[in-house]
This record gives sequence, C-alpha cells and structure tokens, in this order.
Amino acid sequence: MSALLELSDVSASYGPVQALFGVSLRLDEGKVLALMGRNGMGKTTTIRCISRLLPHRGGSIRLRGKDLGGLNAPRVARLGLGLVPEGRRCFAPLTVAENLTVAARLGPWDIARVVALFPRLGERMGQVSRTLSGGEQQMLAIGRALMTNPSLLILDEATEGLAPVVRQEIWAGVRQLKAEGLSILVVDKSLKELETVADSAVVLERGQSVWSGPLSDLTPEMTDRWLGV
Ligand code: ATP
Repeated sequence: MSALLELSDVSASYGPVQALFGVSLRLDEGKVLALMGRNGMGKTTTIRCISRLLPHRGGSIRLRGKDLGGLNAPRVARLGLGLVPEGRRCFAPLTVAENLTVAARLGPWDIARVVALFPRLGERMGQVSRTLSGGEQQMLAIGRALMTNPSLLILDEATEGLAPVVRQEIWAGVRQLKAEGLSILVVDKSLKELETVADSAVVLERGQSVWSGPLSDLTPEMTDRWLGV
C-alpha cells in the first residue's frame, strides 16, 4: 500500500536554531497516527513543515507521493491537507456559520454534517466566534478544517486546556471521523485517549523520530523515558 503521508529524514530550523534533526513517519490512507513526545521535542515544528508554514531544510515530505518541497501552504491545503493548529484559530469577528462557510470547498462536507458531528455548534450558528467557549472554538476549528474536505486532517493539541466533558465530545468526534475513514495525524498529551483512536504512533525525542509502532507496543519504560514529565 502506498502511503498517504510520508516524511523521510526531515530536518528544519528556526533561523540558526535547528529544531528537527531527522523525522521520519508514514501514515496510510484511512489510518490515525499519533505524533508523540514531551514538550519542545518537535511535534508542532513537524506539523508546520508538513503544512508548509515552515520550509524543511533536508529530507522529504510526500503527500500521496507528491513532494511538498517548494509548495506553499495554500497549495498544500488545496491538495487536501486540513490543519487544526495549536491554539485553535478562528476568525474571531465572524459568526460560527460564517467561519464554516468561508472555509467551504466542494465535497461531501457541509454545515449540516459538521453540526451532526458537533451538535453544540448547531446551537451557536449566529454567535460570533470570539464569544464561544474554548471547547466550542476548538470544535469550530475542526469544523472549519473539515469544510475544506481534507483527505488528511492534522490535529495539534486539540483538547489542550479544555474541561473533561468537552474533551470527551472532541474525542468522540475524532473517533467518528476515523470510523468514516478519514486519515488523521494527531498530537495530544492523553495517552489514554490516543490508545482508543490511534492505529500507530511515532515518538519524537529532541527533534528526531526515535520509535514507531502500535501504541500497545509502548512499554512503561518507553513511556517513562519519552513521554514522562
Ligand atoms: P509543545 O508540546 O510544547 O508544543 P513541540 O513538541 O510541539 O512542543 P516544537 O514547538 O516543535 O515542540 O519545538 C521544537 C523546538 O523548536 C523547541 O526547542 C522550541 O524551542 C523550538 N522552537 C519552536 N518554535 C520556535 C520559533 N518560532 N523560533 C525558534 N525556536 C522555536
């Protein structure tokens, strides 16, 4: 089977400061891959390279076999990458409905389907997004990404800082998306939740991928060494 997303030995820097030193990973169509590692190990930087918000310096990034080197972020979005960045960025002065509408691109996703996934958003359609709760804003950020009809959804810390009940709603949504066959790359701190949804995982340590495999293969020692605080 050919990979949907494949990173091979990717390196990247912020000016003179190198942040990635060789990240490799593979995500197959319809699968969920967890990108893991402690704070500052390079997860967000890896996502920024995939979405072309940061050019990588070495190695290669391929989406459906197409080399993303040289492409800009809007072009990669049009190729089917839906990004939900850390810190959920919605257009604050726009309503929920407007936020979803401006993101829309031709395909099976529409507002009704987003509301079926996150019913809370249905009750808030006319509300400006800056007045939404953190959890609702996160649902809206995911909804916006889905409205672009992505073939790959990337979630960077989508449940960070949210109340447990809202977190549960978001995880239920992610599991639903997986059941519908969407391919997802997910960064999150909750190993317990990742275990319910991820087919496999990649662990980053100081900007390098040091392990990959099914989450059930992670031993307590590995968890301690790479994910402990
Ligand atoms: P977190 O869970 O805290 O978001 P992370 O695994 O996503 O961590 P990154 O944000 O990718 O980690 O950071 C990787 C490294 O790159 C860190 O050493 C960080 O300090 C550095 N870094 C991140 N953003 C910048 C930036 N804009 N300029 C310089 N260095 C940066």
